[in-house]
Amino acid sequence: MNILVINAGSSSLKYQLLNPETQQVLAKGLCERIGIDGKFTYKPDGKQAIKVADVAMPTHSEAIKAVLDALVDKDNGVIGSMAEIDAVGHRVVHGGEKFAKSVLITDEVMAAIEECNPLAPLHNPANIIGIKACQSLMPSTPMVAVFDTAFHQTMPDVAFTYALPYEYYENDKVRRYGFHGTSHKYVSQRAAAMLGKPIEELKLISCHLGNGSSVTAIDGGKSVDTSMGFTPLAGLPMGTRCGDIDAGIMEYLMNKYGMDIKEMLNVMNKKSGVLGVSGVSSDFRDLEAAGKEGNKRAALAVEVFEYGVKKLIGSYAAAMGGVDAVIFTAGVGENGGGNRASITSGLEFMGIKIDAEKNKVRGEEIDISAEGATVRTLVIPTNEELMIALDTAALAK
Ligand code: AMP
Repeated sequence: MNILVINAGSSSLKYQLLNPETQQVLAKGLCERIGIDGKFTYKPDGKQAIKVADVAMPTHSEAIKAVLDALVDKDNGVIGSMAEIDAVGHRVVHGGEKFAKSVLITDEVMAAIEECNPLAPLHNPANIIGIKACQSLMPSTPMVAVFDTAFHQTMPDVAFTYALPYEYYENDKVRRYGFHGTSHKYVSQRAAAMLGKPIEELKLISCHLGNGSSVTAIDGGKSVDTSMGFTPLAGLPMGTRCGDIDAGIMEYLMNKYGMDIKEMLNVMNKKSGVLGVSGVSSDFRDLEAAGKEGNKRAALAVEVFEYGVKKLIGSYAAAMGGVDAVIFTAGVGENGGGNRASITSGLEFMGIKIDAEKNKVRGEEIDISAEGATVRTLVIPTNEELMIALDTAALAK
């Protein structure tokens, strides 16, 4: 079975063609600058990456056409015809309270996704454009929507309710939704497999630490709390996002510098986080290098981030009444051994202790716990595409 996984952004489109049974990735690629000049990079399995500049991509339709043409290309294609694509899985950022699971896309589902647009105005409309473009080119192929928010729909009201007037929840759906759900779900399932225990018996804390970061408490395979909120701006400080701050700061800075709300949000989304504190970079590798050269703000930015993760691990263990394993995933979680060491140091009192040698491993599935640790610490490379393909295959069957 071949599943095409599509992740459509406002001016980009990432894809993978993969077989969920063998987990083989037949091809993957990226269309960029859609609506501008169009750049297309793709890599068929076992071959060098191919770059095509200046592909006419006025809309997502041409981008998807370029993807499909590349998949069946005589020289560099990986399938004989489009009929070999059994289903398409689309990443959709926001499913609101309507979608607690992935779904086969119908007209009603499309309408319900569109209703969620105000909750993710930058992401959902692009996801919808990607779905429509695929539908027009592959009208008889089943399409599935996989939502970033769905996994977190199991959170109890005590975890998702903001202490605002309740009518903002009832009338306007203002609540914690959480994101990165596909990643948290994938790594929690892998953790259960690594630990050799049914997921229903495990309390897990999943730390998805990348350019965007979130931590999730997973009890019995279900998300019971997560650090992102109504939007992906909440929770940890991230590459350029501020994470949780005192909302009163907004009024103070807007008044002082004559900013409107758009400008303020631009600061909070694009100029804050570890970039804002360091003044150096949003990339953790740059910060590590600058910190080693004695840049105090770069070092502080990373410390603020790591301290935030440490506090979430403590609070989610408290929320679940214990924890069996802490999972590190995504760019920083998978590769940043120094970050993992700082985050877990001082947590020995709760049974978390990592082995310095094992912690040197990068980007591999590994248990890095030290001898005597009563809480396992696992590094698990995330694979959102595989999770989307597995959900898509299950629904398309
Ligand atoms: P992601 O958003 O999951 O792609 O993660 C991107 C982040 O992972 C960037 O800030 C990278 O600097 C970071 N990253 C990648 N490799 C390393 C590494 N070896 N050590 C620390 N951070 C890393």
